[in-house]
Amino acid sequence: MTENKAAPSNGSILVVGGGISGLTTALEAAEVGYDVFLVEKNPYLGGRVAQLNKYFPKLCPPSCGLEINFRRIKDNPKISVFTHAEVEKVEGTPGSYEVAVKLSPRYVNENCTCCGDCEAACKTEISSDFDFGMNKIKGAYLPFEMAFPARYVISPQIIGTEDAQKLKEACKYDAVDLEMEAKSMNLQVGAIVWATGWEPYDATKIDNLGFGQYPNIITNMMMERLASPNGPTKGKITRPSDDKEPESIAFVQCAGSRDENYLPYCSYICCMASLKQATYIREAYPDAKVYIFYIDIRSPGQRYEKFYQTIKEDENVFLIKGKVAEVSEDPDTGNVTVVAENAVTGEKVKQTVEMAVLATGMQPTAAMDKLPADLKYNEDGFIINDFEKGGMFAAGCANKPADVVSSNQNATGMALKAIQTLVKR
Ligand SMILES: Cc1cc2nc3c(=O)[nH]c(=O)nc-3n(C[C@H](O)[C@H](O)[C@H](O)COP(=O)(O)OP(=O)(O)OC[C@H]3O[C@@H](n4cnc5c(N)ncnc54)[C@H](O)[C@@H]3O)c2cc1C
Ligand code: SF4
Ligand code: SF4
Repeated sequence: MTENKAAPSNGSILVVGGGISGLTTALEAAEVGYDVFLVEKNPYLGGRVAQLNKYFPKLCPPSCGLEINFRRIKDNPKISVFTHAEVEKVEGTPGSYEVAVKLSPRYVNENCTCCGDCEAACKTEISSDFDFGMNKIKGAYLPFEMAFPARYVISPQIIGTEDAQKLKEACKYDAVDLEMEAKSMNLQVGAIVWATGWEPYDATKIDNLGFGQYPNIITNMMMERLASPNGPTKGKITRPSDDKEPESIAFVQCAGSRDENYLPYCSYICCMASLKQATYIREAYPDAKVYIFYIDIRSPGQRYEKFYQTIKEDENVFLIKGKVAEVSEDPDTGNVTVVAENAVTGEKVKQTVEMAVLATGMQPTAAMDKLPADLKYNEDGFIINDFEKGGMFAAGCANKPADVVSSNQNATGMALKAIQTLVKR
């Protein structure tokens, strides 16, 4: 005896967020045969992974994985991608949602060939959010070289200026459209997967670690950009104050994490991220010394533990168990001093290095910008999956802090949950 509990279903799925989790959910559902709308607020897909230099533990560039996914999306007519797009309103019940989406103007249409003439003609420079403000880019730009969609973007900051007209004149393909306006569209879908991801914790909120006060104290995501060949220094890791090649670097683990004053939880990935970044330094500068200050090293699973063991054997990497009390910089030399108590010996440690990296954690994007839907959140702002109610699900780091592998697994599971909503039970 079965009961038909299903509401009449609309056959398509909305995925909000085009990071690795959203890409995975969209592809898994579309490759089974469902129509998928993928809505991303940035002008490109890939999310935070697009900003990374290498993936742990294999140390391969994330660009290969992303490229494969972009190709699968391009080849799949079941997926409609909307970038520069955000959900404004969700109404309805599982199986039948009405969603209002706002599309912001890109000022460049599909004629764009990525020739770069508009960028060359543009005089105005803007701060690069992609590089965390460590770089200036032109007001007409391609977000990164393998960006999907492969189409230039014109910053709203130059609309209405003389520069904007120059860009339009420079484009031989009639791709610059300065009259482009914000638009709205309505979608009818049966299920929604929120894959809205995470933001790096704002390190200026941590009052004892010197970020924002001293240039040679950076965050782990800034280190990813410094080490990336397409980053602000073209992959050369130098310290921000004077471009010196660092001979010593300290990593401060749990910076603003596992602390009731900031993020009370563990972000799961930042121990692995620092161990990985130690390899960036050791590869670039074979004599450089790396000091990692930690409370506990969290390297979950066999492969991550093995990676940790390999780094531990490096005689130029020093792992010091101790919570960091203070980080400061000498204005004359630019050198940074890290103060901690060694939890093993009980001694106070004062280590002077040439630059420091704060291993900051992940904060769910939805904790800062509440989503316009009836969702449940835990006290830290991660979306709780209410499988009883169904219809809307959270995937990847919108649901919990995670690495790429776990995000992909979770996102595949949520594709299945979305499909189950569409199929009459
Ligand atoms: C320093 C550092 C290094 C790391 N290195 C590794 C590594 O080497 N290996 C590894 O496995 N993991 C690594 N990670 C973790 C990895 O970055 C995450 O696992 C991954 O980003 C999770 O992907 P996601 O799609 O869930 O979230 P995100 O990457 O944050 O993607 C979310 C997407 O949703 C979009 N979005 C957000 N809100 C909205 C909205 N309202 N409407 C529309 N779109 C929206 C965002 O613009 C973004 O594109 C690292 C993390 C850090 C901090
Ligand atoms: S907008 Fe025009 S000038 Fe700019 S990259 Fe595209 S095709 Fe080239
Ligand atoms: S992963 Fe490591 S650095 Fe990050 S919060 Fe957990 S214990 Fe701290």
